[in-house]
Amino acid sequence: MRLRNVPGAREVMVENEYVFTEPEGMCGTWKEVFGNDNPMHIEIGMGKGTFITTLAGMNPDINYVGIEKYSSVLLRAVEKQDELQLPNLRFIRMDAENINEVFGVDEVDRIYLNFSDPWPKDRHAKRRLTSRQFFARYDKMLKKEGRVEFKTDNRVLFDFSVEEVKEAGWNLVECTYDLHSDERLNEGNVMTEYEKKFSDMGNPICKLIADR
Ligand code: SAM
Repeated sequence: MRLRNVPGAREVMVENEYVFTEPEGMCGTWKEVFGNDNPMHIEIGMGKGTFITTLAGMNPDINYVGIEKYSSVLLRAVEKQDELQLPNLRFIRMDAENINEVFGVDEVDRIYLNFSDPWPKDRHAKRRLTSRQFFARYDKMLKKEGRVEFKTDNRVLFDFSVEEVKEAGWNLVECTYDLHSDERLNEGNVMTEYEKKFSDMGNPICKLIADR
């Protein structure tokens, strides 16, 4: 994502009621945050938040947490949420490397990864959100019947991710190399900002679902 520094974005995040900027230590507090026992779905690397905001509007009985590293990007999602005020949606500004300090054992029901940064150099492979190192983190916080859903148009990253699912000892439940042509898997699909942009350019969208 091309980053433009938005003056004041950091300050908006710190003061906004829907955003956590110092989430370390929040393990076990999420039921309190939402005031209910509903399932929790999270998106890591949500960008401007169209996907998760749409889902939160459609599914009031599911709690959603969007995670984004940069205030300047997150700002767009926060502005939208300030208008909508969806009670089942919160955001975290953080690097997902520390995600196990934020979500405790069995606290998460689903993890969405959409158009994650590819980190093309081999020596950066462990920074990819679909690396075995990240699957080990997800393993700790995801409920037994929980799953990871990943979409991208980047075939190299997708092929890497399919291998990492297996290396991590997870199951590949679904796998398509052209989501939008797959009637069954595409049913109810909510497009992300990047998905719209890349499919408009003619790129096929890959999707996998993994569980344990
Ligand atoms: N998911 C959105 C979509 O599909 O339109 C945005 C995709 S964009 C290519 C990737 C986003 O993930 C960027 O906003 C980036 O800042 C964020 N990101 C990448 N690595 C991250 C990490 N380790 N922790 C949190 N956010 C991350």
